[in-house]
Amino acid sequence: MAPVLRFAPSPTGLIHIGNARTALLNALVARREGGIFVLRFDDTDAERSRTEYAEQTEADLAWLGIRPNLVVRQSERMELYAEASERLKAAGRLYSCYETAEELDRRRRIQLARGQPPIYDRAALSLTDEDRRALEEQGRRPHWRFRLEPRVAGWEDRVRGPSHVDCASLSDPVLVREDGTYLYTLPSVVDDIALGITDVVRGEDHVTNTGVQIQLFEALGARPPAFGHHNLLTTMSGEGLSKRSGALSLRQLAEDGYEPLAVAALAVLVGSSEAVRPVADLDELASLVDLAHISRGPAKFDESELDALNARFVHAMPYETARPRLEDLHIGGGEEFWNAVRANLSRFGDALRWWGIVEGPVSPQIEDPALIAAALRLLPPEPWDATTWKSWTDAVRAETGLKGRALFLPLRLALTGLDHGPELAALLPLIGPERAKARLAGEVA
Ligand code: GLU
Repeated sequence: MAPVLRFAPSPTGLIHIGNARTALLNALVARREGGIFVLRFDDTDAERSRTEYAEQTEADLAWLGIRPNLVVRQSERMELYAEASERLKAAGRLYSCYETAEELDRRRRIQLARGQPPIYDRAALSLTDEDRRALEEQGRRPHWRFRLEPRVAGWEDRVRGPSHVDCASLSDPVLVREDGTYLYTLPSVVDDIALGITDVVRGEDHVTNTGVQIQLFEALGARPPAFGHHNLLTTMSGEGLSKRSGALSLRQLAEDGYEPLAVAALAVLVGSSEAVRPVADLDELASLVDLAHISRGPAKFDESELDALNARFVHAMPYETARPRLEDLHIGGGEEFWNAVRANLSRFGDALRWWGIVEGPVSPQIEDPALIAAALRLLPPEPWDATTWKSWTDAVRAETGLKGRALFLPLRLALTGLDHGPELAALLPLIGPERAKARLAGEVA
């Protein structure tokens, strides 16, 4: 059976590289196994959900190269959740409760003071119909809790191996709020059933939810899917990433000029037994995904690792791939320019800076006027090609007796205004005789 996987963000902020890890693990398993990848927006919280975040999430996934086979929005599927909650009520698994937040808080504090676990005491289960009527007459509205069976929910986690949650140690979770809106748990299970999800791969912050959800699948008459809970990405100092802070959002990484495949490779390979390395495409990345080889500890996101990986992608980029992007940036110089500069780029966009050095204007730095005067005189006749630099510097060396750094650095400073950069043998023909002459004469050109 072809697997069906999903990524289920709530559209309450910009998705970050940690969310991309979840999205990619699901999308790549589906891709590799000929399955279906569903993007499900968990947008039942109308206050915090925003259409623009959902749109941006789709755009961010597209930037990574991921196009879901199906996109669904929970806000458009409310009847399914209503129907499921009616079934659970009829089966006695969903029961109404009237405690206020303050009452619950007070009870929790008493339990803690007595050294008891702060679990909901199920007081509402002993309310009579009359009690409920009286409470409703006072204007109280119920919220609804799922009655957990006091047993262990176990599963074979695709990342963590044999796993279990002892549901006897949990409070019965609230599934429906006082205002009739749903918390995440019920709609998620209802959709996982309705969409035929076979594998739920998500962050390990959901492990406890899985215990509850397994009971919910069963209470709704469905077989639970397979589960895998991957480690979470943290910052180097160990803090979790948050959608709200916008830190390391995919949009920011795109704006900062990172290659989408570098971001994808890092998001997937960091914190696994595979080395973080460049890949040719998403198919190759998919072939490296092994849920069982994801580490147990948190995966630390190191921006310098992304910088280094990004540079490796750019250095290896063939001209055919670079060409349309160079054209978009109005960078000329063709393949010669690309081959001259690519090893000097950390991000693709840095090519603009080197094109600026070719085209000018450049403020030359004249450090050794006698050398530069000789060099100007000895400039070879046209046409210039990749051999021009060597024949020119040979001639300058023969006349001045200078060699090595003493010869090359003043020439670089005069021609580019900089003390570092791509091979001058490749840059010189691109700079061309006119600009080279002017710069050697100390003019801004
Ligand atoms: N909306 C949930 C989240 O973003 C989905 C969790 C799940 O994959 O079930 O955490």
